[in-house]
Amino acid sequence: MEIKTDVVIVGTGVGGLFTALNLPRENKILMITKSDVKSSDSFLAQGGICVLRDEEDYDSYFEDTMKAGHYENREESVDIMIKGSTDIIKDLVGYGVEFEKNGEEFVYTREGAHSKPRILYHEDITGKEITSKLLAQVRRLHNVTIMEYTTMIDIIEKGSQCAGIMAVTKKDDKEEELTIWAANTVLASGGIGGRYKHSTNFPHLTGDAIEISKKHGVRLDNLDYVQIHPTTLYSKKPGRRFLISESVRGEGAVLYNKDMKRFVNELLPRDVVTQAIHEQMEKDGTDYVWLSMEHIDKETIMCHFPNIYQHCLEEGYDVTKECIPVVPAQHYFMGGIWVDSDSKTSMKHLYAVGETSCNGVHGANRLASNSLLESLVFAKRAAAAISGTPQCK
Ligand SMILES: Cc1cc2nc3c(=O)[nH]c(=O)nc-3n(C[C@H](O)[C@H](O)[C@H](O)COP(=O)(O)OP(=O)(O)OC[C@H]3O[C@@H](n4cnc5c(N)ncnc54)[C@H](O)[C@@H]3O)c2cc1C
Repeated sequence: MEIKTDVVIVGTGVGGLFTALNLPRENKILMITKSDVKSSDSFLAQGGICVLRDEEDYDSYFEDTMKAGHYENREESVDIMIKGSTDIIKDLVGYGVEFEKNGEEFVYTREGAHSKPRILYHEDITGKEITSKLLAQVRRLHNVTIMEYTTMIDIIEKGSQCAGIMAVTKKDDKEEELTIWAANTVLASGGIGGRYKHSTNFPHLTGDAIEISKKHGVRLDNLDYVQIHPTTLYSKKPGRRFLISESVRGEGAVLYNKDMKRFVNELLPRDVVTQAIHEQMEKDGTDYVWLSMEHIDKETIMCHFPNIYQHCLEEGYDVTKECIPVVPAQHYFMGGIWVDSDSKTSMKHLYAVGETSCNGVHGANRLASNSLLESLVFAKRAAAAISGTPQCK
């Protein structure tokens, strides 16, 4: 089957949805997703989304992002993300997203490597709150069609430019190949966790866009920069690892070795805490270390982390009364398809946003809660570039 559209967007996470919402309504847009529309990592985000609290926080936020990224970050991208953050939060609130508030004031939480609290959250299901509200908005648009269970298998290259994609769609157990011609193509296909045995990501997120881009000589960047999250719930069951958000440690949870002794400052950057856990497990001859929430009062656990509380209970642990076993797992990909500050790849008419792209914001290691924000800021810029609106640097 052949389809013609103005813009094809591969992926229905925050990157894809926000691009669609910010494109002109006269554009005909086709969004495809490999699985059902809700199976994206965007729905899984727990901890929250960073925002510049006020002008005085700029230097500190910039430094925290750079330090976590081992100063390998692209400074221009970090600046764009931080300066764009307040507008993004306004956009989200306008779309009906609710963040924790005390009266009229936002409440901010803190995660590892942040020198102060600057993270907005919705219980421990911030990603679901944001993504479901964006999805509801997109579903109201008459110019957007979403095709589920439709997988991009290639891009169409014509005279060194991107002219759309090839995809396979599944219906009633039958597969059909699609040739999707598009004036502009946006790759928003998420991370690579599906390639790992232990990952917090959905298993169908296998870095397809990156592999396809490589085949076409599209520039890639930082392919060896993979973030391992220090704390996922240890389980012998196969499948996706359940994340114990860093904000749990931000609120006071501590890590213990087999002798119930602390061995690391829990709020150091993720890569440092991960390495300390690996070393401790090796020393102790164990497959996990312990995480204790004993210093967090029960009300905070129940209000801020109800989903984590419930999941652990289902696995047999009451976090208000006992420690839980945790182990590091693959979590995030800082590298990907190289893009400029307007999310343009090295191939004309091909854009990349979200985790599959690499605009350099995260450098060698992502600062907690910067990825939802980065995806949204640079998705909006991709939409502006496609529609020809100049963006300020
Ligand atoms: C457990 C967990 C907790 C997290 N917590 C936070 C947090 O608190 N704060 C934060 O900022 N970030 C967090 N993150 C990271 C953040 O959620 C992701 O980086 C971000 O949501 C990525 O958005 P995306 O739109 O790029 O990709 P995704 O939301 O992963 O969407 C990818 C989409 O691409 C589709 N797709 C993939 N391949 C193909 C293909 N070949 N053809 C068609 N479709 C395809 C998928 O089906 C999906 O729709 C967390 C991640 C995880 C896994």
